[in-house]
Formats: sequence, structure tokens, C-alpha cells
Amino acid sequence: MGSRTALVEDLMERFPHVPREAVFKEDLLRGGVAFDPSALSDNESGEVKPKSYFIFSFDHGTLPELGEAALRRPPEEIILTGGPYDLRRTVVSVRVNPASPYRVAADDEGLLGLYLDGRRIADVGVPPMPEYYRHTLANGKSVMEVAPTIQWGYLIYLTVFRVCQYFGAKEECQYCDINHNWRQHKAAGRPYTGVKDVEEVLEALEIIDRYDTQKASTAYTLTGGAITSKVAGRDEADFYGHYAKAIEERFPGRWIGKVVAQALPKDDVQRFKDYGVQIYHPNFEVWDRRLFELYCPGKERYVGRDEWHRRILDSADVFGARNVIPNFVAGVEMAEPFGFTTVDEAIASTTEGLRFFMSHGITPRFTTWCPEPTTPLGKANPQGAPLEYHIRLLEAYRATMDDFGLSSPPGYGPPGPGRAVFSVSSFMDSLPADDAADEVADDTAREKETAPEGA
Ligand code: SF4
Repeated sequence: MGSRTALVEDLMERFPHVPREAVFKEDLLRGGVAFDPSALSDNESGEVKPKSYFIFSFDHGTLPELGEAALRRPPEEIILTGGPYDLRRTVVSVRVNPASPYRVAADDEGLLGLYLDGRRIADVGVPPMPEYYRHTLANGKSVMEVAPTIQWGYLIYLTVFRVCQYFGAKEECQYCDINHNWRQHKAAGRPYTGVKDVEEVLEALEIIDRYDTQKASTAYTLTGGAITSKVAGRDEADFYGHYAKAIEERFPGRWIGKVVAQALPKDDVQRFKDYGVQIYHPNFEVWDRRLFELYCPGKERYVGRDEWHRRILDSADVFGARNVIPNFVAGVEMAEPFGFTTVDEAIASTTEGLRFFMSHGITPRFTTWCPEPTTPLGKANPQGAPLEYHIRLLEAYRATMDDFGLSSPPGYGPPGPGRAVFSVSSFMDSLPADDAADEVADDTAREKETAPEGA
């Protein structure tokens, strides 16, 4: 038996309360997966929805290092089911790593499977090409480029500013490849719009709205790099907010509007709210003070950790605590050379952060760190964080939520193993299935059914 299989099975045995689906999902997210040519897409002209590169590369190699996967994109996500571990339906975002012990390939009958150390461990489903990706804007741009959808069609991901004004080693977050991703797509001759035109966004949404007849798309996220000065004459709140305003005017209440932006002063946060945003993600990135200062030098210099946290708490006055959902990058706190050297210390630190926010009714969420090779932390830690850290974090997250009587945050689709669609960490797969989910906690609250796209 290969060592990775042994590692996974050992953790499943030691942490029986963590769904086994989540163990595989975390391992795939932290370490990536290889793709046999038989499992790649035919880009936008095929039957499989391709990886859109919606903000960061989320790959373990640069495009030139990915071989055929750089020419024929892998699917945006995969779904795992069945196999010897009897996995329930699990949606996993695709992070390509040609050297991974996980491999997706078709068998002799053309059925896709996930292989670990050479053994088939799950059936693999891929997202069908959504009808709305088959149509282009009047200027020829693709919907995938302007308004890609992820999380099995649940979330429209609008990275409207595809670079960051924190630039270079002294400002960029040490785990972030947004600026590199911009450069590599340009170098490969791929379409990659730096600042998206609001009219183009509306046109792409119009196409999604027209062809998404099952109403699988439920939320949109407006995001992009930090704005420390201005873009197109607007500061950060006005820049991201004016897209929300235009969307809400054209499609009132059609989707749950979310914005991922810096922790801004209360007046700016109020502008987001006034523009129609319902959920605010002022990400705290990493809890430990020293690591925040080292990993987020731009944010530390321009705002500072204490002020950043104060602003997160203040934004609950505007949005309501339920609708303030700060993200952190799970795993970077164990990155060499500065990170914690034991899982115990890393979990203790992050739990302290969870308790800080949850004691104020704010429910953070996390994405699983992908150590992209062009980032300082990714270069120094190509293996990412230990899998045990990720599994214990799922336990700690759920336990802390229980302590404070909180349930899964709104805007993420249904929780629970076999039901979750959130694809870049398994926190939703690890929460109870009967949890109230997907309600925006104010008088605009509503619940929506989510159907898998194309299903
Ligand atoms: S603020 Fe940091 S994490 Fe966000 S885009 Fe800029 S460099 Fe990346």
C-alpha cells in the first residue's frame, strides 16, 4: 500500500467524526491531482465545463509545466462518488499537480475514476458544459471569461479587477499568485480582462439568467485585487460596489450579492450595503499576529492587523454579524520558514481566531491553501500543510461553531456530506446536513433550492 493511502486511512481511523469525503477532499485541495489526457476537456468547444482560472491559478505548476492540461483545460471541478470508501457525492475544485499520487483517468470503458497510488478509489463525475457557456457576448468574449461559475454552478465568480495594487515582494500576500496568474495568462495568449467592463458583466449575466433555467446559479461574488488608490477613478468601495449597484438594478434580487474586499472603514462598508451587497467577506487571512505581519505586508503597512480586525467587527453593525464572513487561508500558518512547526500550535492559534470572531456572532470560513509555486510560501512549501492539520481544523471549526451556537454561514449552498457544493474547502461537507443554510439573515432572507447544473 502506498504511503499516501496509509496516511489517509490512518487519519480516517483517528478522526472518525470527520466525514471520509472531507479527508480526500482536503488532500486533493492541498496537494492537487494529476490528469490523464483522457480526462481533460476540449476547452470551450467540448461537452465538459473547463477550469476558468477564476482568480488565482490554484495549480501546483505554472502553465508551461502542466503539459497537455495547459492546452486542453481540466474540468472546473470533479465530483467523487462510490468506490471502496463508498463516498457520498463530493464536489472538489480542480488544482492540477502532475506529480500528485492522485490521478483522474478514464478506464477501458471510458468511465472516469480517481486513482490513489494506482488504485481506483472513486468514480469521477465532471460538470457538463452549461448552456450559457455556449453563447458569447456581442463583442465575442466568452461568458467563462467574464462571468465564470463555480461550485457546480451555484456561484458566479466576478473577479472584476484581476490584479492587485499590493505589488511585489514587500506588499503582495506571500501565498497569493493573482498578479502572476495575470501575467501567465497574458503570456499564453489567453483572453484575460484586467478590469471588467460593467456592461460586459451585465451582458454575461443576462446570458446566464436566460439559459440557467433551473436557477442553479444562486449567488455572485464581486472581487479582485486590493485597491489602495483608485481604479477607473473609483476607490475600493465604489469600484466593487458600482458593479453590485448595476447588477441589482438590472436583476433585482435574482442572486445573493457578495463582495470580497479589504476590511474597509465603516462608511465604505455602508456603501457596499447601499449598493445592494448582502454578504461581506473582509478576509482575515491568518490569525497569528507575527504571521499576519510577515505574510500580508501590504495589509499590515496600509491598515495594520488590529485595525483590520476592528473593521471586521464594525462591519457587523452594517451587515449583521451573520452576513459578515471573513475568510482565512487554511494551512499557511504551518508554512516554513516562519510558520508553526506543530499541528497543535497551528490549531490552537487558529481556534483562538475563530473564537474571537464567533464570540461576536461572526462566522469565518476558510479555503484550503494551494501552495502555488510562484508565491514565496508555495515555493518553500510545495507539499502545503500536513493533512492532519486540515482534518483537525475541520473538527475545531465545527466544535467552535457549536460552542457559540452558530450554524453554517449563508451564501454557500447546502451543508453536509453528500450535499455541499462549496468546492475550495470541505468545511461545508463537514457540517451537519440539517443545518439551516443559505439564508441571508435579514429581511431580504430567502431560501433557494440548488440543483446541480445540467442535472
Ligand atoms: S490583497 Fe493579498 S490576497 Fe488579496 S489579491 Fe492582493 S496580494 Fe492577493
